[in-house]
Amino acid sequence: MKLAIYPGSFDPLTNGHLDVIQRAEKLFDKVIVAVAKNDSKNPMFTMEERCQLASESLAEMERVSVDRFEGLLVDYAIEQGAQAIIRGLRAISDFEFEFQLALMNRHLNSSIETIFMMPKDKYTFLSSRMVKEVSKLGGDIREFVPEPIYRTMAERHGLSNESSTQ
Ligand code: ADP
Repeated sequence: MKLAIYPGSFDPLTNGHLDVIQRAEKLFDKVIVAVAKNDSKNPMFTMEERCQLASESLAEMERVSVDRFEGLLVDYAIEQGAQAIIRGLRAISDFEFEFQLALMNRHLNSSIETIFMMPKDKYTFLSSRMVKEVSKLGGDIREFVPEPIYRTMAERHGLSNESSTQ
């Protein structure tokens, strides 16, 4: 069975992440969306919330599951029996960091390949950080995140679902 791990903060999962997951699902029998603990990023959503929101958003994708991990990604990937790590590439700005990360992971364990996937053009400018900023300021993010995440963010920022669609 071909298994890939898609790791990230997913704070929260966006339609850009979803696009990458759909592409990965075409190549692998199973994809695990692995939510990183990552305290240093000072997340908006707790680990539990990020996992819960991702699970709700991906509920219909039968070959995709959501898990959490702490510590070294390659150790987690080996433990799960994965052959590959998936990462998304939006623009040149992602490239340098992602390249370093991929080479470091290869240094740590050369049996796991990193595969980069590019989303549809319309998601190349999309990031969790952008979605959080826009939502906080009352902007409409419905087009950029799955419905369960849209609802949760609208509630958290005190917007009614109706008013945010205008
Ligand atoms: P991390 O903290 O690991 O960067 P993120 O949740 O921000 O976690 O991103 C996880 C992965 O998804 C990264 O490889 C990132 O480049 C990629 N990614 C984030 N947003 C998008 C997007 N809009 N389109 C494609 N890939 C994306």
